[in-house]
Amino acid sequence: MNEKRIGILGAMPEEIHGIVSLLKDKKEVVKGMRTYYTGTINDVEVVVVFSRWGKVASATTVTHLIVEFKITQLIFTGVAGAISRDLNIGDVIIASSLVQHDMDARPIMDRFEIPLLGKTMLFPPKDLLDNAMDCIGKLVADKSLIHLLSLKQQEVFSLYEQKVVVGQIASGDQFFSSNLQKENLLAALSDVLCVEMEGAAVAQVCFEYDVPYVVIRTISDIANEDSVVDFKEFVSQVASKFGVEIIRKLVK
Ligand code: SAH
Repeated sequence: MNEKRIGILGAMPEEIHGIVSLLKDKKEVVKGMRTYYTGTINDVEVVVVFSRWGKVASATTVTHLIVEFKITQLIFTGVAGAISRDLNIGDVIIASSLVQHDMDARPIMDRFEIPLLGKTMLFPPKDLLDNAMDCIGKLVADKSLIHLLSLKQQEVFSLYEQKVVVGQIASGDQFFSSNLQKENLLAALSDVLCVEMEGAAVAQVCFEYDVPYVVIRTISDIANEDSVVDFKEFVSQVASKFGVEIIRKLVK
């Protein structure tokens, strides 16, 4: 039986720096333009790395974690644009299903079907999902995440309430920055909660290598014309802090 070794893949460099500062016995390995940090968090062996952005980059990084570092499970954290109208900036989404919204091999396959897998959706294992829900649910309920921010930051981002939602995440090599993009996505995939650029690619690799995984995303923008403005501020000032705290509680 393998020792537990958790891969932590983050889509925000700011968040990676914070997570790396939690590491005990930290070591670094540089390969393929990526720096892998090994060590322990809460006495659990971990490998922390910036995924880089987009499906190809993140799939490559997770493959390296699995093959070279022999991780036994994966936690992915990052930010995402809201697609569901019920979501606000700062809400946390845990994926119960993931789909590659730009996968389209019609007419030889159904729209969104992943070639050779015969699937359109990937489903993270329930035990990791439940554990993440339990842990993040507590952090949200007692406002521990919001209280990491100054009052000024809470005001700037109107972040007084926060919720955690479990549901569908769509990934693709596109940054969503218009209502038209959102409407087109919802017309094809009506259950999507949020959109990002890595999760479903990472899920595909984990599925193919049989490594349990969980994908967690904080809403950084509402994927419309304002998303670029919201995004940069939010990532550097807020989301990366949430990610570090989530990892600190989740790794055990
Ligand atoms: N920080 C970079 C851009 C990062 S790419 C910059 O400022 O130039 C965007 C990252 O945010 C990816 O990790 C993607 O998964 C996520 N993301 C957040 N909002 C998104 C949106 N509206 N559309 C697509 N991806 C989004």
